[in-house]
Amino acid sequence: MSQSPANKPVNIKVDRTAGLLAIDWGDGHRSEFDAVSLRLLCPCAFCQGEAGRPGWLDTNPTLTSIQTQLVDARLVGSYALAPTWADGHDTGYYTFEMLRESCRCSECAAKRQPS
Ligand SMILES: [Zn+2]
Ligand SMILES: [Zn+2]
Repeated sequence: MSQSPANKPVNIKVDRTAGLLAIDWGDGHRSEFDAVSLRLLCPCAFCQGEAGRPGWLDTNPTLTSIQTQLVDARLVGSYALAPTWADGHDTGYYTFEMLRESCRCSECAAKRQPS
């Protein structure tokens, strides 16, 4: 699987104080995720469910400040990032492709609008 520069991070910054994850991509674009949005994207089986079964996030849980406190983020191979949350949850592997697709800036949001 070849990675396009747009899905390849050149710099990843976790700002624990502000609760922000910032990624600079190979094509010069920058994505910023606030901790709450990032937590809601968690792709793990527990949060999103699997095999047709709903996950924890499907129950519209009220997230506590502990659950949305970003502690750290580690690289998984060269394809994903796994954030660690203050409640100990760290099983969500966010692929770079998915993170780029979920970029919250207005430019990317506009691109996702059906034309
Ligand atoms: Zn999860
Ligand atoms: Zn963007």
